[in-house]
Amino acid sequence: MADFDLIVIGAGPGGYVCAIRAAQLGLKVACVEGRETLGGTCLNVGCIPSKALLNATHQLHEVHENFEKMGLMGAAPTVDWDKMQAYKQDVVNGNTKGIEFLFKKNKVTWLKGWASIPAAGQVKVGDEIHNAKNIVVASGSVPASLPGVEVDEEVIVTSTGALSLPKIPKSVVVIGAGVIGLEMGSVYARLGATVTVIEYLDAITPGMDAEIAKSFQKLLTKQGFKFTLGAAVQKAERTETGATVTYTLRKDDSEHSVDADVVLVATGRKAYTDGLGLDALGVELLPRGQVKTDAHWATNVKGIYAIGDAVVGPMLAHKAEDEGMAVAEVIAGKHGHVNYDVIPGVIYTTPEVSSVGKTEEQLKEAGVDYKVGKFPFMGNARAKAVFQAEGFVKILADKTTDRVLGCHIIGPGAGDLIHEICVAMEFGASAQDVALTCHAHPTYSEAVREAALACGDGAIHA
Ligand code: FAD
Repeated sequence: MADFDLIVIGAGPGGYVCAIRAAQLGLKVACVEGRETLGGTCLNVGCIPSKALLNATHQLHEVHENFEKMGLMGAAPTVDWDKMQAYKQDVVNGNTKGIEFLFKKNKVTWLKGWASIPAAGQVKVGDEIHNAKNIVVASGSVPASLPGVEVDEEVIVTSTGALSLPKIPKSVVVIGAGVIGLEMGSVYARLGATVTVIEYLDAITPGMDAEIAKSFQKLLTKQGFKFTLGAAVQKAERTETGATVTYTLRKDDSEHSVDADVVLVATGRKAYTDGLGLDALGVELLPRGQVKTDAHWATNVKGIYAIGDAVVGPMLAHKAEDEGMAVAEVIAGKHGHVNYDVIPGVIYTTPEVSSVGKTEEQLKEAGVDYKVGKFPFMGNARAKAVFQAEGFVKILADKTTDRVLGCHIIGPGAGDLIHEICVAMEFGASAQDVALTCHAHPTYSEAVREAALACGDGAIHA
């Protein structure tokens, strides 16, 4: 048994960042993790392995689609799936080991095992009870289930199974057209699989700016994706060769089915707090299972806080990290803060898609008078040189004050480009501020500047 100022439960991006920041602020900190390795969903079965596979398959796509155009001739490489999986695992291991190193460097004690909270101020790991002045629940999330669809992680899989399939499937049905489904769908489409996406709503990537979502769907369709929208999946059943997914179209209730080698259920994730004993402690949960907190991540039980996927808000690693840092600062007596209006979202397909702030639909609904500045990557020299001139940057600014209210990008490097606008929004910048900033040539960033120019007197290269 040991006494700590803070015990963090869960070593995902929320938990490990919280533990490190609290230790940097002088607190005696432990972090409990039930998995064998640190880093949570993100490093082990989420952001990192998916980006490794996206990178490998993007390179393959480049070889097949663009190498000859650049005079790079010769036999195209073949895919060694086991080697690609080993590369993915190396990337994961490098990152999880990195967190171990950071824990040692910052003197964070790693308590190995599954934690429960027998009483406020106590954390039980295995048979040991540790005292903690403060506890942060950062227990993350798990894939949501779908009635009629039983996951076996072999043929009917969640994202976890999809990251480690024993062989490359010839056909995949993805249930749910959200970020995870489209990213994993891209991986297998580039490896030659037929990918059919079945989505309940009438558009892909719900919540995204509608114009961007439409363009995105068009580009994915060009890459071979098939979309069945407005369809409610009734069941998925294993067959001798794979599985059959049965769905009804919402417009006329007609029933259809589609066969595939693999079915990926990507209908979202839900907060995970099983086994912590929150009910017995009287910690309030929200109807959808997240831990209820106030604006400073405190639960209704003194000394217990919660962050990341276990609480409300976008299920994103960087949102969890920001909350981790902020709650550590609050516990250390400082003023932790997260600006929920400026949290970027990125889809790491090719092209990438990113967004921050308000969508056009949200501004319309709120009755805000806004203007739109758009610039197509077709007018960007660098994008043309890398065969990624499809897509555009769209900046939304207040019509009267010119203040940037949102930005949506589909195109090369979109996931990095968006941060210029995040900083601009944090500083309350106007579109003109962005437009008057010198941008290096030739960069993709010039497209952002041109979109900002388009909010005023007009873009130059459009
Ligand atoms: P988690 O990362 O889920 O970590 C929680 C940890 O707590 C887990 O390791 C769990 O084992 C541990 N734990 C739970 N209960 C206990 C207990 N009782 N005792 C001990 N340990 C416990 N987000 C992005 O921002 N960018 C991306 O590109 C991205 N890609 C993704 C791709 C996939 C396939 C998936 C599934 C997710 C992706 N995400 C991405 C989402 C991201 O992974 C999560 O938002 C993020 O991991 C949440 O961090 P967290 O710290 O709240 O929880």
